[in-house]
Amino acid sequence: MPAQLAIEGGTPVRTCTLPYGHQIIDEDDIQAVSETLRSDWITTGPAVEAYEEAFAAYAGAKYAVAVSSGTAALHAAAWAAGVGPGDEAVTSPLSFAASANCVLYCGGRPVFADVQQDTCIIDPDLIEGVITPHTKAIIAVDYSGQPCDLDPINALAERHGLIVIEDAAHALGATYRGRRIGTLATMTVFSTHPVKHITTGEGGMVVTNDPRLVEKLRAFRNHGIAADSHVRAQRADWFYEMEFLGYNYRIPDILCALGRSQLGKLDGWLARRRALADGYHKAFAEVPEVRPVAVRSDRESAWHFYPVRIDVDRLRVDRRRVFDALRAEGIGVNVHYIPIYRHPYYRQLGYTEGLCPIAEAQYERLITLPLWAGMSDNDAEDVVAAVVKVMAAYRK
Ligand SMILES: *Cc1c(COP(=O)(O)O)cnc(C)c1O
Repeated sequence: MPAQLAIEGGTPVRTCTLPYGHQIIDEDDIQAVSETLRSDWITTGPAVEAYEEAFAAYAGAKYAVAVSSGTAALHAAAWAAGVGPGDEAVTSPLSFAASANCVLYCGGRPVFADVQQDTCIIDPDLIEGVITPHTKAIIAVDYSGQPCDLDPINALAERHGLIVIEDAAHALGATYRGRRIGTLATMTVFSTHPVKHITTGEGGMVVTNDPRLVEKLRAFRNHGIAADSHVRAQRADWFYEMEFLGYNYRIPDILCALGRSQLGKLDGWLARRRALADGYHKAFAEVPEVRPVAVRSDRESAWHFYPVRIDVDRLRVDRRRVFDALRAEGIGVNVHYIPIYRHPYYRQLGYTEGLCPIAEAQYERLITLPLWAGMSDNDAEDVVAAVVKVMAAYRK
């Protein structure tokens, strides 16, 4: 007899729910923020540049431009890539809405190319099929932390004269063919939301090697004004000119101090994420109903989260029931993602169901299991125990 599930009145694996992602804040992070609060600058001062320089060095890139969110970073990158009214940009449907919303912000039209079934990352062959004379950019998403197929995507972009923006919100510290994510696209975008690898509360970053793009991005985050206020203060001049319609996408020094402090601990946290992912691979190799996403051998995922496909054909229940049963066991599972174009706003824009059949089929089976650097071995064992318990109870 399989153990009685918590959802059916049994005892849960855990009494307090394990979240799917969580930040780590140490005393030295708090110290770094406090020092900034006691300094002269609390926004757009020296901590922004120090954080940008440290981030660029980590990513192996020449420049990094820090902004107020990953979404702002995507908006800035799409704009700097020249996406405007009448233009199209190709992205993945299996992502957070911001990957496509940034195109709408610029007045352009997001076009969705389907994903590969085994990896859930965007398929370069299918990108080629949706390129038109209006296409300006490819916004490639590193789903769950696995870098997308950057060499084929860059080759495609070169053939068609497109700019590649890598949405690496999941992939800080990942590698592709031995190279760290950060210089493998024209612009690479990161997020520092608390569930991501390092946090600034809210925050984002655009990384690039192109100095002309950096100038545009810096002005875009500051109303379209060429120089930041502290640069003007150094020059002791009141004169400035707004050259185009930008935004206030600045990120305060307070948060940049936190980001720089967090960055110093990233490698240790990545190692922990990888060890947890390895543990899951081994455990789920014994569970035929659970299929983790494949990771290509030429790249290393940064494991933002751990997605599995539930083989519902082997079960007496659907994904919804598996999800609810795992939640009842105290496992804070999630689903990444509802295909972007299936949200009501996109349906209203004319996108229809069936556009990307592979992404839709994966969506019906996907469940995200908890994975973050602060998780203990016990936490991970609870996740495995709950999954094994639920599968045993619902197996055909
Ligand atoms: C988190 C995330 C974003 C947006 O980042 P925010 O900092 O929350 O604005 C964009 N794309 C993907 C794939 C993300 O996961």
